[in-house]
Amino acid sequence: MGGYCVAIVGATGLVGQEFIKVLEQRNFPVAELRLFASDRSAGRRLTFKGEELPVLETSEAGFKGVQLALFSAGAEVSREWAPVAVRAGAVVVDNSAAWRLEPDVPLVVPEVNPEDVTWHRGIIANPNCSTIQMVVAVNPIHRVNRVRRVIVATYQSVSGSGSAALEELRAQTEAVLRGEAVCPSVYPHQIGFNLLPHIDRFYEDGYTKEELKMLQETRKIMHDPELPVSATCVRVPVFIGHSEAVHLELTEPMSPAEAREVLSRAPGVVVLDDPARNVYPMPWDAAGRDDVFVGRIREDKAFQPGLVMWVVADNVRKGAALNAVQIAEELIRRGLL
Ligand code: NAP
Repeated sequence: MGGYCVAIVGATGLVGQEFIKVLEQRNFPVAELRLFASDRSAGRRLTFKGEELPVLETSEAGFKGVQLALFSAGAEVSREWAPVAVRAGAVVVDNSAAWRLEPDVPLVVPEVNPEDVTWHRGIIANPNCSTIQMVVAVNPIHRVNRVRRVIVATYQSVSGSGSAALEELRAQTEAVLRGEAVCPSVYPHQIGFNLLPHIDRFYEDGYTKEELKMLQETRKIMHDPELPVSATCVRVPVFIGHSEAVHLELTEPMSPAEAREVLSRAPGVVVLDDPARNVYPMPWDAAGRDDVFVGRIREDKAFQPGLVMWVVADNVRKGAALNAVQIAEELIRRGLL
């Protein structure tokens, strides 16, 4: 059978299971699929194309012969095992934050900077989920009318924190409806019927690590090292799908109609923008879909010239598994895998 020997590290997780789905749905050329997780999951079985495959504990021997390794098991695991996979001859596409800002590691969103896959030295990083969907929507505008400044507020679903957070929101929602007390464990506060202006850890300047990622990763992906990006990242009680209110200061005036026209031709973007008929993107509809949805496009009343838009995508899919598989497809298209 033609195809590649592919490994998924973190196969039992939310992103890992989406990897399995995306590889199958896109008919990615897989000759052999190896599933790795921690020793806790060794012995479990997961299904790929109708076949039950065993989950193995991650090990050096397991990477022998692997050509493509998709990592989604957190930064610590990536720091330890990605170099091992590379030494075994694999190209690693890593979903964690471990390598994203390393100067010799490309950080790639295929709709924006596909050419960056060419200079990898074994590891290619997949950006943070909230950054991916923002740059897919902002870059097409930036190409025709340079973006001078970005202000963004995010509304991020609990799936961005992994499978334990999905369970926490479900359990808290039921508990609150029953009138019972909740005890937070994934988050520092109750997330059911609440929202937390806090994603990842705080820095001295008052920003969080997630907010800083949106600044640093956007600059690296868009090759614009000075671009000012100020983010406020908020966790909301939504299961799947991140939403963002994005304010852009532009170089030249641009009407909402022009922006809609540019975005409707942009790869990976679907414009859903008809407020008179209550048409705008929502996370419930974006869940399970590949595209980045953009709506509520209007002139910014604070930035002149400027635009505001509302951007929604499935964070587990375009924000993680799908984007990583698209990176691998880009490598194949260029004869680099
Ligand atoms: P998750 O549901 O909590 O899954 C974590 C996975 O990592 C599980 O498969 C777990 O295996 C595995 N793992 C944990 N410790 C391990 C170890 N020592 N050795 C090998 N495997 C280990 O988390 P997730 O949402 O899938 O996220 C995984 C990664 O993707 C994180 O780096 C996250 O930042 C990144 N990411 C997530 C999203 C998202 O929207 N969720 C978006 C972008 C990036 P066990 O089952 O054996 O514990």
